[in-house]
Amino acid sequence: MRVWRTGSVGRSREAAIANVLTSMNSAALACAHDFVARFFASQSCVVEASFGTQMEEPMAFSPLRGSDRCPADDSLKKYEQSVKLSGVKRDIKELCEAVPQLVSVFKIKDKIGEGTFSSVYLATAQLQEGHEEKIALKHLIPTSHPVRIAAELQCLTVAGGQDNVMGVKYCFRKDDHVVIAMPYLEHESFLDILNSLSFQEVREYMFNLFIALKRIHQFGIVHRDVKPSNFLYNRRLKKYALVDFGLAQGTRDTKIELLKFVQSEAQQEDCSRNKYHGVIGHKGPLNRLAPKNVDRQCTTKTSVKRSYENTQIHIKQGKDGKLIKQSKTVDIISRKLATKTTAISTKAVNSVMRETARSCPAVLTCDCYGTDRVCSVCLSRRQQVAPRAGTPGFRAPEVLTKCPDQTTAIDMWSAGVIFLSLLSGRYPFYKASDDLTALAQIMTIRGSRETVQAARASGKSILCSKDVPAQDLRALCERLRGLDSTAPKSAIGPPGSVSHDPAASESTDQKASHGQASQAQYSEDSLYKRDSDGWRSHLRDCTASSEGWDSVPDEAYDLLDKLLDLNPASRITAEAALLHPLFKDMDS
Ligand code: ADP
Ligand code: MG
Ligand code: ZN
Repeated sequence: MRVWRTGSVGRSREAAIANVLTSMNSAALACAHDFVARFFASQSCVVEASFGTQMEEPMAFSPLRGSDRCPADDSLKKYEQSVKLSGVKRDIKELCEAVPQLVSVFKIKDKIGEGTFSSVYLATAQLQEGHEEKIALKHLIPTSHPVRIAAELQCLTVAGGQDNVMGVKYCFRKDDHVVIAMPYLEHESFLDILNSLSFQEVREYMFNLFIALKRIHQFGIVHRDVKPSNFLYNRRLKKYALVDFGLAQGTRDTKIELLKFVQSEAQQEDCSRNKYHGVIGHKGPLNRLAPKNVDRQCTTKTSVKRSYENTQIHIKQGKDGKLIKQSKTVDIISRKLATKTTAISTKAVNSVMRETARSCPAVLTCDCYGTDRVCSVCLSRRQQVAPRAGTPGFRAPEVLTKCPDQTTAIDMWSAGVIFLSLLSGRYPFYKASDDLTALAQIMTIRGSRETVQAARASGKSILCSKDVPAQDLRALCERLRGLDSTAPKSAIGPPGSVSHDPAASESTDQKASHGQASQAQYSEDSLYKRDSDGWRSHLRDCTASSEGWDSVPDEAYDLLDKLLDLNPASRITAEAALLHPLFKDMDS
């Protein structure tokens, strides 16, 4: 599949308005700085040693973990390890220098996670009783917006600490460095365990995810980035924790005060549409810049805002028979006018965008409709206001079509995508580099007509030249899992053909956007091809019957169907999901 257009066209904004917003923003920054300072001041006094269960297992992400390579690989491996180790050591040293108070409390052992916006370390704290407590230290990049940091902390402190939602123990701040100390939960890599989980474990996993989502949704928190790496799972201890509120937003009636602040800024922008890009968020599009080079102003962007009257997303069949998508921003009024315009190649969009927007006369009409070009008229469309932060493969259709009204239902969709992976044994299930690819992938599972119809209900129009039918979820999952007796089974495919880099596919939008855009991982074609490879089918053959995979109840697919409801208004809630017949024998 090839992306022809993402439709992320912008519009120039008057300098005067930009100035007003700049000053508003610095006021907000000052206020937030103040808040963060006060927040931390109070936090540091309230250090209650309510330490959780001690984890005895070895580190999940130890860079020194042994492997059984052949001797020829050994020296290279050792070299890589030493480079990595020295890198980790250097990072730990730098962290200790930046936030020296950490040293008196913790022994920092290892780096266990690194993204563009945070690094997570494993540390131990010496308790008075004599035993050591494992702690996860999340060091946020210094360019994160203070309100964003404070909101992330408030989610953890107010909603966290119970019902499978991660809590917070301490916070440390020195200048613009913020470190959040959380109980450490040893956890599995989703990809590593996916194909060895029993159906019962899958049921428990989903049940516990809904407990966490019910909890945060009760507080009016929309997580926005629900995916396996943000839902920690300790298989042995059957412990679960939803982490990472770095993209969270508040519902209208959120109980998280700072999310209101985040939201109110978004609403402000609603009023001044097209005059300012973005709301507070440490993972916004402009953060694609190397963090060190980004000033605070730039790190406040989470979403691209638009307000054209109608969005048309066009999916057609290309020369090779594959689906090709185009999105058109179609202003109904200008479509009625008939004046010739200059066509601009997609590649040139960014460079000419600003200029075109400024110079495009109001009476022109689009002449790029149904083509793979973007005309100057389309480039000058006003923009729609809608947050789109998150990870492409887990984004709900209403996020992909940029509906401004987004609710906690978007997290339920993401939970549905996780469930789809668990039932099909495929991860990542959707691997899309952009929103339109993601939308096309959803269509191949849920049906193009159904997707178009659901979008229409929220005022969005999607054009699709090829009709793809909705798939039966049981048949799909069983086929992918290799349980379908009619599915061809052959030799196991090479590991490279099936193992993706989960970090890449799972990276939160802006993290994934670094470097060149990758092609969509999943398409109808690749799906069937991988299926006929029969990869890992031997594993399933051995374990299927004993693990309950031969008798997956209809309730599982019924729940999956209700999670992957294209219409957010009727999509099942976390509370309702916990009461679903699939979980009839389970207590929350
Ligand atoms: P980011 O915003 O960079 O994605 P996260 O909060 O998701 O940060 O943390 C990144 C990774 O660090 C997680 O995927 C997980 O592997 C690890 N991690 C985070 N918090 C904890 C914790 N409390 N216990 C154990 N590991 C954690
Ligand atoms: Mg994360
Ligand atoms: Zn056009």
